[in-house]
Amino acid sequence: MVDKKYDYLIVGAGLFGSVFAHEMTKRNKKCLVIDKRSHLGGNVYCEEKEGINVHKYGAHIFHTNDKKIWDYVNQFATFNNYINSPLSLSKGKLYNLPFNMNTFYQLWGTKTPHEAKQIIDEQVAKYGVESPSNLEEQALSLAGKDIYETFIKEYTEKQWGKKATELPAFIIKRLPFRYTYNNNYFNDRYQGIPMGGYNVIINGLLKGIETKTDVDFFAHKEHLESLANKVVYTGKIDEFFDYKYGQLEYRSLRFEHELHNIENYQGNAVVNYNDAAYSFTRIIEHKHFEFGKQSNTIVTREYPENWNRGKEAYYPINNDSNQKIFKKYKEESLKSENIIFGGRLAEYRYYDMHQIIASSLAKVEEISKSEP
Ligand code: FAD
Ligand code: UDP
Repeated sequence: MVDKKYDYLIVGAGLFGSVFAHEMTKRNKKCLVIDKRSHLGGNVYCEEKEGINVHKYGAHIFHTNDKKIWDYVNQFATFNNYINSPLSLSKGKLYNLPFNMNTFYQLWGTKTPHEAKQIIDEQVAKYGVESPSNLEEQALSLAGKDIYETFIKEYTEKQWGKKATELPAFIIKRLPFRYTYNNNYFNDRYQGIPMGGYNVIINGLLKGIETKTDVDFFAHKEHLESLANKVVYTGKIDEFFDYKYGQLEYRSLRFEHELHNIENYQGNAVVNYNDAAYSFTRIIEHKHFEFGKQSNTIVTREYPENWNRGKEAYYPINNDSNQKIFKKYKEESLKSENIIFGGRLAEYRYYDMHQIIASSLAKVEEISKSEP
């Protein structure tokens, strides 16, 4: 094989692509990273406005239990001590999340774990099932009817655009449920926001690496492929194969950013809006991620939307029918020579940032072992 200009063409400058490029460059491989957006960073990109780092594609809170991944990101940024403690507005009342003793007190007035557990156990016994096969059954079996109806059903159905009975059970298992007065949304040992925003990490990862923005891989496929020995593709897997086995479903979002000439809009970084009457799911007030003291504030409403080919795909919808289609693309991808698939869209998985970094590092390791 004649050696081409680059060892790797990396399609997508999100976390997967950026970690891959960084690690391969360290191993003396020459990389070119492209992205169809006008900036690097993918969904973790932040835009500075009024001295506030605005999470352009939704709130991003870094959390992990894995010391190796925590040390990895800390090479590139210093993390603050932000702990995510969202509130939920339901039927005019504010509650603490995730589901914990504060929530139970606000919901039922219970003061001890024993009192709360009694109510939940009764409801779980009445409405739960032994082997939950969808999100509704899972929620009822974990938390009972009141919690399901107050915090989960309406939020979930607007977030996903599907009935909770048509969604996979694992989605709701992301949320902690505990009998302590602890409003930390995550159970992980390490958590925080990179000081200066996520761009600091992306810039660190991509330092000294050639990058090109506003370049769509499919618009210049032949030329781009001719430049590199291998391609790392982090876009939608069904698009890569021209949707030949059918279109996978995704959920899209619309973000409405708003500047307010007041110091503090909602007193918390994240407030979820449970009720179906609101068509957005949450309002983010960005300055609170970094304990900002600016005189203005920027808030973002997050509206879930149906996805079509003209929109950004934010969430894979991992139900049975999509998994069946994905399996065919996955099998095809394993046969594709010199193309590596990775990231949330190419792996069609509801991955968080730490999982994406782990997956990219594992891929680099796997390749480096087979071709030193
Ligand atoms: P992406 O960031 O999507 O990057 C893929 C890149 O590929 C994109 O920039 C895209 O433009 C580019 N691309 C695609 N197709 C092409 C093409 N044809 N040509 C050129 N470029 C292309 N994780 C957490 O850990 N904590 C959180 O709090 C959190 N909150 C989230 C909130 C929201 C609303 C969303 C949507 C996700 C959240 N995540 C969170 C998950 C996190 O965003 C992802 O795990 C991570 O950013 C995925 O990285 P990636 O590189 O796989 O994908
Ligand atoms: N969820 C809910 N009510 C809430 C928050 C979350 O029902 O107030 C459900 C909903 O189905 C959501 C899932 O839990 O999609 C995972 O929530 P998470 O906050 O992890 O979602 P993400 O930040 O990834 O959008």
